[in-house]
Amino acid sequence: MTHDEILSWLRESNEARLATLWQLADQARQVHVGGEVHLRGLIEISNHCIRLCGYCGLRAPNRKVTRYRMTREETAACVRQAVALGYGTVVLQSGEDPGLTRAWVADLVHWIKSETPLAVTLSLGERDQAELAAWREAGADRYLLRFETSNERLYTRIHPARPGGPANRLELLKCLAVLGYEVGSGVMIGIPGQTYDDLARDIALFAELDLDMIGCGPYLVHPDTPLGSPGNWRVLPGEEQVPANERMTYKVIALARLVCPRANIPSTTALATLNREAGRELGLVRGANVVMPNLTPPGYRQLYEIYPGKACLHETAEACQDCLQGRIASLGRKIGSGRGDSPNYRPRRT
Ligand code: SAH
Repeated sequence: MTHDEILSWLRESNEARLATLWQLADQARQVHVGGEVHLRGLIEISNHCIRLCGYCGLRAPNRKVTRYRMTREETAACVRQAVALGYGTVVLQSGEDPGLTRAWVADLVHWIKSETPLAVTLSLGERDQAELAAWREAGADRYLLRFETSNERLYTRIHPARPGGPANRLELLKCLAVLGYEVGSGVMIGIPGQTYDDLARDIALFAELDLDMIGCGPYLVHPDTPLGSPGNWRVLPGEEQVPANERMTYKVIALARLVCPRANIPSTTALATLNREAGRELGLVRGANVVMPNLTPPGYRQLYEIYPGKACLHETAEACQDCLQGRIASLGRKIGSGRGDSPNYRPRRT
């Protein structure tokens, strides 16, 4: 798909034409990754963060957050729950937390891989190449690191660099592929200052990076962040701001499916937060094939506030499972069995 074709879908407002886009994406999903919906158990292992991301409630200077770091035993209990619920994957996510040391994470991954059949996905932010290599060595299968936006100027504004760290996340994504991880990335939709051109380039970059997993959700305002203070963040005069709404999110999911047909694409919690009744289902019939139920103990879950008003905040893992099962069955789809690896994955890409 050319840049102009992507752009014209992003600007499309005719419902009948959009129905064609949904249909194309749904067909591509069926052909390339099938009808199964894979469940990934999300465990938010720490909300400590050393970074200053302008959009995220976990940013270091936010004093209103009570910080937690789960113990090995607490994490292991969640992992066992994932096995009991029949999930094929656990996703360990956190703020960028040096307290999650190379050895601690490696031991945990090693334990999960030796005691369970689960695939392990890490989403721990921008860590050193040596750490990423050690965790891959310990058995981690996949890594999620959204590049957030392909517009360098916007990226630097919303995501100040860590001294000594990479200027952007693209370098690390390449390194993850070389290490043999299944690589996931993605963007937020409707970040203040994001133009249609930016978003079209984001989607083209998914294909260029040959992603195995693509996670995209709407940007949701967090009041205790710089982006949450109104007025400071604008597109340039003459440019048009992308709305952070439901329809734009479906468009990005559908286009991601068309440019990366074999990728695993979740219908995200951020999307379900915009439409609690039907957001997840609509994502799943417009290109997505993955859902990430939250296994974090509820007491910690409410402290992992990257944005407020998160869907499914108080559900127990069992209630979450029942609800999702019903939603997936209502679409005539089945819950995936096994690990649900991406058919796009090839080991050790250079
Ligand atoms: N520290 C890890 C995990 C962050 S949470 C990392 O940086 O990769 C995972 C994703 O949540 C982020 O990549 C970002 O795209 C998304 N996110 C953060 N704040 C958000 C907000 N206010 N609205 C919507 N999505 C947000």
